[in-house]
Amino acid sequence: MTELRWDPLRGEWVAFASERQERTLLPPRERCPFCPTLLGGPLTEAPERYEIAVFDNRFPALRPDAPPPPARVDLFQARAGYGFCEVVLYSEDHTASLAQLPIRHLERLVRVWRERYLTLGAQPGVEYVYIFENRGEAVGVTLEHPHGQIYALPFIPPIPARELALSAAARAESGRCLLCTIAASEWQAQERVVFAAEEVIVYCPFASRFPYETHLVPLRHLASLADLDAAGCHALARALGVISRAYDRLWQRPLPLMLVIHQAPTDGQPWPEAHLHVEFYPLARSAEKLKYLASSESGAGLFVADLLPEQSAAALRAARDPNFS
Ligand SMILES: [Zn+2]
Ligand SMILES: [Zn+2]
Ligand SMILES: [Zn+2]
Repeated sequence: MTELRWDPLRGEWVAFASERQERTLLPPRERCPFCPTLLGGPLTEAPERYEIAVFDNRFPALRPDAPPPPARVDLFQARAGYGFCEVVLYSEDHTASLAQLPIRHLERLVRVWRERYLTLGAQPGVEYVYIFENRGEAVGVTLEHPHGQIYALPFIPPIPARELALSAAARAESGRCLLCTIAASEWQAQERVVFAAEEVIVYCPFASRFPYETHLVPLRHLASLADLDAAGCHALARALGVISRAYDRLWQRPLPLMLVIHQAPTDGQPWPEAHLHVEFYPLARSAEKLKYLASSESGAGLFVADLLPEQSAAALRAARDPNFS
């Protein structure tokens, strides 16, 4: 059963997918379904050999053939859990991560994301292609093998929608793109910048919600991955490598984090206010302490941080890999 139910109090959709309860939880490496199938070994979900592989999620939150839910009355509105859920395997190496992949491989990943954005975004009824990665047990990852996910959604989810609404308002007032302005201001201020090159900047936002949170923003105004040319793919891949390596070098161990991509919706409308960017939310406050989304964050929407973004940026700059650029 997959179904979307409307929360009238919050004004948000909630997705229900009962089959997801059956998911395998952190199987040992020899039973990893994402490792290539080996001769004489158990059949896995992954191809025999691959560099990057994309396939349908076996336990999708949404599905293209979801039947309409039974009619309900008044307040209790629901709709079919329509959509597409894909898994993107970053590498056939079980222990790899974005922080270890060479730049050429990262470039390939950016091109795969771009292709899935275009293909899924062109499906009827898909209004938003949400690309993300959950990394580490602290984020609730059920499979260790390096991978990300894609949700192709029949609506624009609330967080990108809110960013777009504020960006549209700013654009109407000043005639300029909000994220172009923010990125230029961060470049000028310098103190929160972790990495900057000709095409792209990575900084800890002025009002970071998570410790060591960073935003990776193309300096040219690009609405989505679709607008990336070869140089743009290379610049994005390079910045992904730089920040991923800095995260893992911070405490010399893999940092649990979320990676999310915000960009233009695919509902056929023009989105001049949309500006492609990647946001990273680490879930650790220090080498030993995890960051929890507790009552203040979950119930009030008030994030309480004990680390200033200026301090985060300095630590991440110091943790950069001098051998990667
Ligand atoms: Zn594996
Ligand atoms: Zn812009
Ligand atoms: Zn964003």
